[in-house]
Amino acid sequence: MRLYLINPANPLLIGSIKESRWNRYRVWKPLSLMVVAGLTPPEWEVTIVDENLGVPDYRALPRPDLVGITAFTSQAGRAYEVAACFRRIGVPVVMGGIHATMCLEEAARHTDSVVTGEAEDIWPRVLNDARERRLNARYDGGHAEIVSVAPARHDLLPDRYGFGAIQTTRGCPMNCNFCSVTAFNGAHYRQRPIADVVREFQAIREKRVLVVDDNIIGTRPEHIARAKELFRAIARAKVDKGWVSQATINFADDDELLSLAARAGCRGVFIGFESPTPAGVLEGGKFALMRGRDIRASVRRIQRHGIMVAGSFIIGLDTDETGIGRRIAAAAGQYGVDTINVGFLTPLPGTRLWKQMKAEGRIALDKFPEDWKYYTLTFPVARYKHLTLDGVIEEMMACTRSFYSLPRIFGRVCANFRHPRAPMVSLVGNLSYRKNYRLDIAALAEFRNQPGGRRDQ
Ligand code: SF4
Repeated sequence: MRLYLINPANPLLIGSIKESRWNRYRVWKPLSLMVVAGLTPPEWEVTIVDENLGVPDYRALPRPDLVGITAFTSQAGRAYEVAACFRRIGVPVVMGGIHATMCLEEAARHTDSVVTGEAEDIWPRVLNDARERRLNARYDGGHAEIVSVAPARHDLLPDRYGFGAIQTTRGCPMNCNFCSVTAFNGAHYRQRPIADVVREFQAIREKRVLVVDDNIIGTRPEHIARAKELFRAIARAKVDKGWVSQATINFADDDELLSLAARAGCRGVFIGFESPTPAGVLEGGKFALMRGRDIRASVRRIQRHGIMVAGSFIIGLDTDETGIGRRIAAAAGQYGVDTINVGFLTPLPGTRLWKQMKAEGRIALDKFPEDWKYYTLTFPVARYKHLTLDGVIEEMMACTRSFYSLPRIFGRVCANFRHPRAPMVSLVGNLSYRKNYRLDIAALAEFRNQPGGRRDQ
């Protein structure tokens, strides 16, 4: 039995990895497909196709018995094209992942079967039903216990990515209004057994790894105690990888945690600040973590351990007005973060923001599935409260132009010589972000000039 697991092309990429080396740092390995491959019994011959490495001629490939597709929201349109291509020749197609879970009815119209939730507990049954040609229209995996998960198949993809990928925890209790993690993975914070994580880390070939956890340390004392245990075990096993992950700002509050993370190979952490204003932070949902905090001191504490900080911000919050772009750039400079990642406020299906904006008639790009390709956080897809379409784009440009100006990049890299972080990594990271933002700005200009891009506002 032959199974193809397909990651549809990501519209965020301007060309595939092959065509631009910058794309190596804009695309992550499709870890969910590697996990599903790990759950697949050996009688199935599994191939993972990542279209971001190049789109194959599917007609020239051996005919599979089953196709599994995963997709983030922005990939949904391409996912349905791929599904149609196989369904035309009678190959059944199963779709799973966050978009299929949040937009079940839409996914069901384009595929033979939809798996909602997490795959671990349900995938063997799906394969069994596929073999017996009696696939159900829907399977629900819910939130799996992740205490005995088969390791992801890191061997099934080539070495052409900037980063390897691993997951050590799932779920987030914070339920920020713009984020779909809590809706998809639940509020209950689940942590994989430490020995499993260490073994899987050792199986990754890349020297740089993205730990895809939405919050690697969690929020409660027992989460943090386990994170420390994990970091100790990774250091003891001499895994020898440099890795980056995501965390909330409370990462800064425990020096032992920071020291252990650094010893385990932590080189960078993405932290969501969302907004430079208290009202914006409140709107985003992290007010309790940020209230009364000296953010600059928190960032410094992390950096003192040789860990770089990438600050994440949103433009287009209901509290944002003209000038927000430059305010974000100024605040990020004042916090002392090494890089910033700025996205437009985007109502992703399944979030509280989606429900609110839909009820208020503020979803501007709503011809689905065609418009899903704009749901990358790099296009303004909504109607913003105090900013027009042109206005919100101008704010994004002002923010990135200011933060990623060459003099400011130079200043940050020099600061890295004074602190025990890696100046070359800082330089490459900043130039990479600068290049990526220039690509995004070019895409935005095109978006703004096309008839469909101005459906608004
Ligand atoms: S943004 Fe981060 S902290 Fe908030 S719900 Fe999503 S994963 Fe949790």
